[in-house]
Amino acid sequence: MLDILGVSDRISVGIGRLFKGAMKEKSFKKAQKIWMALSTDVKRKILSNVWCGQCTTSVTICDYSMTMDSGVLVLRGFCSTCGHKVARVMECCGEEDKA
Ligand SMILES: [Zn+2]
Repeated sequence: MLDILGVSDRISVGIGRLFKGAMKEKSFKKAQKIWMALSTDVKRKILSNVWCGQCTTSVTICDYSMTMDSGVLVLRGFCSTCGHKVARVMECCGEEDKA
């Protein structure tokens, strides 16, 4: 009986983890799709124009990952100059090009 309880406990934890993982994966895929649709030039501009609170200037983001946050593409990574955590929120994908 104890064994059965132990197993079912482990299964429910496993399902919870799986569900969270799927949500994260979906969010990443969507973010990646938007990101891939941008031109190399735009991407380069974005990656090299991230505000670092530590350097108090625009820096290049490195080791970044992307995700969707409230329907907005967010890049999270590190400052290439000082290694401080930086993030770039892209509220209007491609809108910058309209001007
Ligand atoms: Zn920095």
